[in-house]
Amino acid sequence: MPMLPRADFNGIGLLIHNSIATLGLLEVYTPDPICFDLEAVQFLQNVVEMLAIAIERKQAESLLQTQSQILEQVASGTELCEVFTGLCLQLEEQAPGSLCSIMLLNETGTRMEAIAAPNMPDDWRSAMEEINLLEEPIGACALALREGSAVLSEDVAEDETWGRLQEFALVRGVRSLWATPFFSQAGDILGVFAIAHTVPCGPTMFHQQLIRAATHLATLAAQSRHTEEQLKRQALYDPLTGLLNRTYFMTQLRQRLETPENLFAVLFLDVDHFKLVNDSLGHNAGDQLLIQMAQRLRPCIRKTDIFARLGGDEFSILLDGVKTVQQAQTIADQIKAVLSLPFQIEDRQVFASVSVGIAHSDNLYEHPEDILRDADIAMYQAKSQGRSQSATFDKTMHDMIMSRLQTETELRRVVEQLFLDGSSQLRLYYQPIISLTTGRIVGFEALIRWMHPERGIVSPMEFIPVAEETGLIVPIGQWIVQEACEQLQYWQHKLEMPELVVSVNVSGRQFVQSDFLPTIRQILSFTGLPPACLKLEITESVLMETAAKVMDRLEQLREMGIQLSLDDFGTGYSSLSYLHRFPINTLKIDRSFINILTPEQDQVVKAIVALAHGLKMDAVAEGIETQEQLNQLRDLGCEFGQGYLFSPPVPSDQAEHLLLNQPKWVK
Ligand code: C2E
Ligand code: MG
Ligand code: MG
Repeated sequence: MPMLPRADFNGIGLLIHNSIATLGLLEVYTPDPICFDLEAVQFLQNVVEMLAIAIERKQAESLLQTQSQILEQVASGTELCEVFTGLCLQLEEQAPGSLCSIMLLNETGTRMEAIAAPNMPDDWRSAMEEINLLEEPIGACALALREGSAVLSEDVAEDETWGRLQEFALVRGVRSLWATPFFSQAGDILGVFAIAHTVPCGPTMFHQQLIRAATHLATLAAQSRHTEEQLKRQALYDPLTGLLNRTYFMTQLRQRLETPENLFAVLFLDVDHFKLVNDSLGHNAGDQLLIQMAQRLRPCIRKTDIFARLGGDEFSILLDGVKTVQQAQTIADQIKAVLSLPFQIEDRQVFASVSVGIAHSDNLYEHPEDILRDADIAMYQAKSQGRSQSATFDKTMHDMIMSRLQTETELRRVVEQLFLDGSSQLRLYYQPIISLTTGRIVGFEALIRWMHPERGIVSPMEFIPVAEETGLIVPIGQWIVQEACEQLQYWQHKLEMPELVVSVNVSGRQFVQSDFLPTIRQILSFTGLPPACLKLEITESVLMETAAKVMDRLEQLREMGIQLSLDDFGTGYSSLSYLHRFPINTLKIDRSFINILTPEQDQVVKAIVALAHGLKMDAVAEGIETQEQLNQLRDLGCEFGQGYLFSPPVPSDQAEHLLLNQPKWVK
């Protein structure tokens, strides 16, 4: 109750307030001085209380109204900038004399973006946006963002934290500024809400309420936009590498094809031997490699091009405005060069390369899937030429793929038939392996042939890769071992040649099958062939690609008494330092070394023979075609030989004939 003076007055003023803050002032004037008695004052006091309630209700109502308006805008997907500007304007209306603004923190946390500052001086935005938050956090907004807590600058003129911006703010009439940061649900700073005044002052309770409401709304709006963007990103981006994804890439391809006058090229990239990285170093390392490759390639690709990860170890690049295949080829070369340096994955250096397929839009494509398919076909072609190659799609590749598909379909049928009634277009041919010292046949290499009703004899070089890729090699391989063992057992008995050995080629896919060993064991017991008369030929790539598992398996084979031979030695990339650890009996010197063998050029073969002997293995020379080669190999100490000089691979009856007649091959 105010103290009552005893004199008469013309007027009286009463503060309008609630329990915590002053809301306004009620002034009552009379024409003649009167004495405001207790009753009059009590009356006015009641009026003031009612006014306080009305004001509070009005403020709360308009705040609620603001809130629901903003929430509606957020829900309807209104641009964030518009939502925030509306919020500032409404708050300014509720707190007369205030200038509101909202800044958002950029992704790197180094700068702020003045997304809404409707009544701040024109150059305010740019001045705020130029501030580097890490190097020079000047002014209340920057400080609040940096500290993550509210900064109340109640008198800018007295506040040194404004630094060089102090003068700038004062000249533009900003005398006080209260900045409050707002956060995401995860606790990350999203931005700052600021209220400025043209007079020095601090926030009242009402202001504080306003700030709380404003930051809450700003959080909701920014967070929902953030979530929306994340969803959009998820729909269009690859989460691992951050590159665009297949969906987006296909949409872009479709758009380009709608305007055929725009020439472009598509590069299809596939990481060479990626499985090897995954299998040997783990999936985490594989992921790291993909991320680093994407990072390294990104700067080589123009902003206008589309760089996407299609999935797995496949990437694709849409090169806009590329008029000739030559241009695309140059870019492919640059990509290969950039990837040629090693990658640091965990604590190792890893070398990686890609095979690149190129398809150009001048082939007049209708559907995006078609151009991507052709780039993919070209990539396969590149892969077949070795690591880090590129190839451009042309029509012959398409024909090749079609014929490969045809081969696959037919081969499936052949295998079905094989297990249905045992009849088959598959045959085993036998090529004799000769002792270079005695000239006698010591065994045969079993080599498969496909007796195709229309195409004649199809080479294994053509269909074995298809069988490997499709997994058909597993049933085919099983049949080969069975057939070869039966045949050999038959000869051993019929011709009384118990020492004869049969060599059977085993592909990698076959070798790693979990039932490989039991199957071999079963075949041996079924046919009764002594294990020592079966020799399995594996290639260096089998040793390398599955090094961990392979050792175990080789040792078990050795324990069973089966012999092992390393085929095409010298053409793969086996690590010589590992060779001694594998229980191998024989090195087969690849034909390419025998081809070039002359008395002057014998170093490589000499070294391989010495290596074999050093490791307590024997050596077989493949592809002997001339008497000179034979003589020289014998002089170099190579124990065995195989080649057209003796005999090409022949059907079993002819092989039997050779066994019976033992030609005088070595004089
Ligand atoms: P490989 O195991 O290195 O077989 C040797 C190849 O060299 C055979 O080709 C053989 O006919 C050929 N050859 C033998 N002597 C000479 C010669 O003096 N000169 C020339 N130019 N070539 C000679 P083929 O039968 O066409 O087999 C090719 C490859 O296909 C084999 O190479 C092997 O990797 C694979 N292969 C053949 N049969 C089978 C099989 O039953 N299973 C599996 N997994 N692969 C097989
Ligand atoms: Mg072989
Ligand atoms: Mg070979």
